[in-house]
Amino acid sequence: MTRRFCVRCGKRSERLINSLCVECYVEREVVLDLPSKIKAKVCRECNAVLKHGKWERRARSLEEAVEEAGFSAIEENLRVTGISQPEVGIAFLGAQRSSPKDFFARYRLEVKGSAGEEEVEFSREVKVNVRLTLCESCQRKASRYYEAVLQIRAHAPLTEKERRELSGFVRREVDARWSEDKAFISSYEEKKEGIDFYLGSAKLAKKIANLLLESYGGTVTTSTKLVGVDESGKSVLRYTFAYRLPRLRRGDVVRIEEKVCEVLKLSRGSVSLLDLATRKSFSLPEKRLSEAEILGRAEDAVKAMVTEVVKGRVQVLEFKDYKTFYFDTPLPLEVGQEVRILEAKGKVYLLATPLEE
Ligand SMILES: [Zn+2]
Ligand SMILES: [Zn+2]
Repeated sequence: MTRRFCVRCGKRSERLINSLCVECYVEREVVLDLPSKIKAKVCRECNAVLKHGKWERRARSLEEAVEEAGFSAIEENLRVTGISQPEVGIAFLGAQRSSPKDFFARYRLEVKGSAGEEEVEFSREVKVNVRLTLCESCQRKASRYYEAVLQIRAHAPLTEKERRELSGFVRREVDARWSEDKAFISSYEEKKEGIDFYLGSAKLAKKIANLLLESYGGTVTTSTKLVGVDESGKSVLRYTFAYRLPRLRRGDVVRIEEKVCEVLKLSRGSVSLLDLATRKSFSLPEKRLSEAEILGRAEDAVKAMVTEVVKGRVQVLEFKDYKTFYFDTPLPLEVGQEVRILEAKGKVYLLATPLEE
C-alpha cells in the first residue's frame, strides 16, 4: 500500500491535488483576485449606488445602500483562479463609519469549487471601503441644473387651495420617480399668475404635464429654446411646458343648455356633469363648456347636515350661518348625513352627494 502525503507540509492524506493536501493547495494555488483596497461609492443624498459606472437608485436607507455597494463592488472585482466552477457566496457582516465620508463594510466570502477530483471549500473575510459622495443627479440638483420649466396657470389667479393641491400633485409625482435620473425639482417660483417648477429632467416635466391633463383637464403648450451646444456639438434645448387649468373646475356650478349642473370630473377633453334638478349625470366634450355660464365656484360650497327627511323633501342646516334650507329631491338621504350646498345667484343648490359623485 502506498502512503500518500502532502509534498509541502508532509501531512498524510488520501485527498491530494497535484501532490498537495487541500489546505496547502488552497493556500498556494487558489487565488482570490481582489484589489487590496476594494472601493465602492454611495450617494449621500439619494442613497444611489454606483454599479458598473452607473448610479442605481434602489436602496431606501443609507445602511441599505452601503451594504449593497459593498456587495456589488466585490462582485465586480472578484476573480477566482485555481479551482474550476467556483461558486462564491457573500454574506454581509456589518458596516462601521470610519470617517464622516466613509464606511467600512465587512463581508464573508464562502468559496466552493473543484480541483482535479477533489472538492475545495474555504471562506475569507473582506472589507470594502464605501465612500459617501454625490451622484450625478444630486450634483446637478445642487448646482440648480434644470432642463425644463413646468408652468402652472389658470384662467383666473390660482386660489390658495389650488396652489396647495397642484404643487402637492407635482411634488408627489416627482417623489414617486425618485429612482429615475434627474427626477428632482431644482427650484420653484410662486408667482401672481401661477407656479413655475424648474425640473431636472425634461422627460419628467412632460410626463407630469400630461398627468395634470389627465387628472384636471385643461391644456398644455410646449415651447423650446436653444440655450447652447454641448461638448459633442449637440444642441442643448430648454423646454417649457405650460399647463393651464380649464376654465371650469371640479365642483363648479354652471348653466349649460338651460340646465344647472355641477362639474363632477374633468379629464382630457371631456367633462362629467350632474344635472342638479334631475340628479342625472352625463358627459360633454370639454369644448362645449366654453359657452357655459359659471354660476358658482367650488370653493364657495359649504357643508350642511340633513336634519329632516319627509317624503321627498329634505331639510338641511348649513354650518356657516346656521340657516336651514329645503330641497325637493328623491335622493335617499338620511338624517345626520353631511351634504354640501352652494348659494349662487340667489338660489341654493344641493350639490352631489357621495352616491352621485
Ligand atoms: Zn499540505
Ligand atoms: Zn444622489
